[in-house]
Amino acid sequence: MHFLPATREEMLRRGWDALDIILVSGDAYIDAPQIGVALIGRVLERAGYRVGIIAQPDFETAEDITRFGEPRLFWGVTAGSVDSMVANYTALQKPRRQDDYTPGGRNDRRPDRASIVYSNLIRRHFKNTVPIVLGGLEASLRRVVHYDYWSDRIRRSILFDAKADLLVYGMGESTVLQIAEQYTRGNAAAGIHGTCEIRREAPDEAVILPSFEDCAADPEAFLRMYRQFYANTDPVTARTLAQQHGDRWLVQHPPRPYETQEELDAVYALPFMRDAHPTTREQGKIRALDTIRFSLQTHRGCYGECNFCAIAVHEGRRVRWRSEHSVIGEAERLRDHPAFRGVIPDVGGPTANMYGYECARKIERGACSDKRCVFPELCRQLPVDHGRYTQLLRKLRRIPGIRHVFVASGIRHDLVMQDAQCGMQFMEELVGHHVSGQLKLAPEHSDPEILRLMGKGGTEELLDFRERFFELTRKAGKKQFLTYYFIAAYPGSEERHMHALRRFAANELSISPEQVQIFTPTPGTWASVMYHTGIDPVSGARLTVERGLRGKRRQKNILAEISRRRRKR
Ligand code: SF4
Repeated sequence: MHFLPATREEMLRRGWDALDIILVSGDAYIDAPQIGVALIGRVLERAGYRVGIIAQPDFETAEDITRFGEPRLFWGVTAGSVDSMVANYTALQKPRRQDDYTPGGRNDRRPDRASIVYSNLIRRHFKNTVPIVLGGLEASLRRVVHYDYWSDRIRRSILFDAKADLLVYGMGESTVLQIAEQYTRGNAAAGIHGTCEIRREAPDEAVILPSFEDCAADPEAFLRMYRQFYANTDPVTARTLAQQHGDRWLVQHPPRPYETQEELDAVYALPFMRDAHPTTREQGKIRALDTIRFSLQTHRGCYGECNFCAIAVHEGRRVRWRSEHSVIGEAERLRDHPAFRGVIPDVGGPTANMYGYECARKIERGACSDKRCVFPELCRQLPVDHGRYTQLLRKLRRIPGIRHVFVASGIRHDLVMQDAQCGMQFMEELVGHHVSGQLKLAPEHSDPEILRLMGKGGTEELLDFRERFFELTRKAGKKQFLTYYFIAAYPGSEERHMHALRRFAANELSISPEQVQIFTPTPGTWASVMYHTGIDPVSGARLTVERGLRGKRRQKNILAEISRRRRKR
């Protein structure tokens, strides 16, 4: 087993004088399935392409970007695992010091708007080069006109700003393979599902979205645009979209069909090193490695559809899960890794306890356009069943050589409480064996109006879950806690809502909240649309939106006050 070439010497050692595809990323090169660029690289390698990775290139000089020369087929460019503006700035617009995907943790390697900077870097040093293909979270969530919090304006599709040739959105491994096949045959990679491209005309069959100019001028046009965009995210029902930008059109082809279980299993069986590339070692520790290295990703997608989350438009609303055989096989392979100490820090996905069940109607006909699966209440068509996940956890912890298996991905407590058949059995297993001291829950708020705007359920199930958790914890003779995540200054939230949340945290949960985040309007979410337009997309009513940095901080401090007072005592 070996890393994909990340230096010229490594490329030459393989007997290659050039590469077919060069992937450029804003993250350090960690060879693990959770890292998009590593996963895409491995999939291309398996298909026989010569692939190399340029991680966190110096964007001021030619040195890094020219190290392999020019690729034969295309450049793949990603900002990395996180949107570069989210990675570089806090919700209060202050520079972040820490970057978990950079050696040594110093946040000095990923430029702002990294997809654009890297594309320009390539064009600067390779005139008339092969196509540049954007991918990853930043490109995916900025693929159509979007609100950008950091410049406080509506921006064009990133494909225009980066002057790239193609954009891959969503989980891109099969899309990238198809692109590579097209370029190998000498074809243009046009009309591929899961991509966006720029054209002079809108295709006849396309749904026409409000233009960039209209969205920039009129918040209601932007809201209409997002509604149409969101309605076209399910591969079963989505149509081609077209959006005018000046005299050109952004064309979004429908999403690719979701991966089959066999396809997912095959991807996770690829020979990942589960380590950072040796060139990063002398530069310091990469914090993200601790959490992802020996974690197991069991599924993709989420039907929670929280309005502040972009998973629905990136990974999709349908959950696709790996077979038990595949996950167990991966766990067994971990034992051979020299750094493995018998602990699997996480077994999960975007929401851990969505593993193993889905709505049959959704699989056949696509996600409903007029209702959600778990909000405002659980849809009766969703067969919530924790049986498969419970079994999987049990089997994993019985593998010889594995001492602990933890669940660190967030879980939906409401799903546990609503699973009459297996919910309690799951909880017993979870509390008894799979909590590493603290279990994360994300109620985010307690006020019914704010919860509705977030697309999240009420507090009743949270309190039931909490009671059950501590009862089982006592029975098991363990010392373990619940950690709650909350959001301050969400669109619609005023100080009175934060006072209500403070009372709830103190009186009902008996906690001083430590995990309070100020809301960040990240691209591609309903919440960022609400933030920009000040409109409740369901009722059409005007929303109070806290835009001032001081006001945001005050909302956070209302909650943080309890913690301060308790610390003083
Ligand atoms: S029928 Fe219910 S569970 Fe299925 S997609 Fe529609 S809302 Fe979701």
